[in-house]
Amino acid sequence: MEKIDHPRVEAATQRRSLQHFLEPLLALPGVQSDLLGPFQTNGREYSLPRFTLRGPNSSDPIRIALFAAIHGDEPAGAIAAVRFLKELASDPGSAENFLLQAYPICNPTGFEDDTRHSRRGLDLNREFWRASPEPEVQLLEQELRTGHFSGIIQLHADDTSEGIYGFVRGHTLTENLLRPALRAAGKILPRNVNATIDGFAARDGIIFDHYEGVLAAPARMDPVPFEIILETPHRAPMDLQVEALVVALRTILTEYRNLISFAANI
Ligand SMILES: [Zn+2]
Repeated sequence: MEKIDHPRVEAATQRRSLQHFLEPLLALPGVQSDLLGPFQTNGREYSLPRFTLRGPNSSDPIRIALFAAIHGDEPAGAIAAVRFLKELASDPGSAENFLLQAYPICNPTGFEDDTRHSRRGLDLNREFWRASPEPEVQLLEQELRTGHFSGIIQLHADDTSEGIYGFVRGHTLTENLLRPALRAAGKILPRNVNATIDGFAARDGIIFDHYEGVLAAPARMDPVPFEIILETPHRAPMDLQVEALVVALRTILTEYRNLISFAANI
């Protein structure tokens, strides 16, 4: 389709459509959809979509949470979360023992506007666990407090990086999940192996530090979940970012299941 050059009009009227984006998931067999909220932003009503997929043999499931697009201008994560859910729904065996809760659009107003910040002008990923009044943050904190997650994965894109990398925190085994995930994703996109990434010391694309206020498990969780933040190079082709994230997610689930069953057999 020919692109008409009216940038000001586009900015005002051509918001990214949340409904259009989420529609394919609403009809997905075996996936339960819920809308958290609602809440008001500048006179309009919004909610946070949550999709739950329960794999076979999951009477006492391993609960994994997947968060994307808390920065609204990083759509690769949202697209990857949707694709990953679809993949699991069409091949439920790959989700055996797992209960996956996916939050593909954590910043719906920023996603619509294609901005990092929410429409109220905040970087929501600096607001966690500091009594933020932002409704998106409060809803997600409630999920993190009550979800009994064994693992928390967050998807981002970094426009200053030429390669894929990740942050680890939480459980000590987390590094053993991210390492193979980056190796697998590194076949699709280059890995960032710089000694410093985003101002943090890094080793083989892994950062062991973090910003204050990022979406994370609350303090003193028992058991301590693994926490991974994946960052794709924002300027890489979108389809490769999405594919790399999906491959990384698949690897994390497989590796975690292996680690758990290994521990159970000791
Ligand atoms: Zn981000």
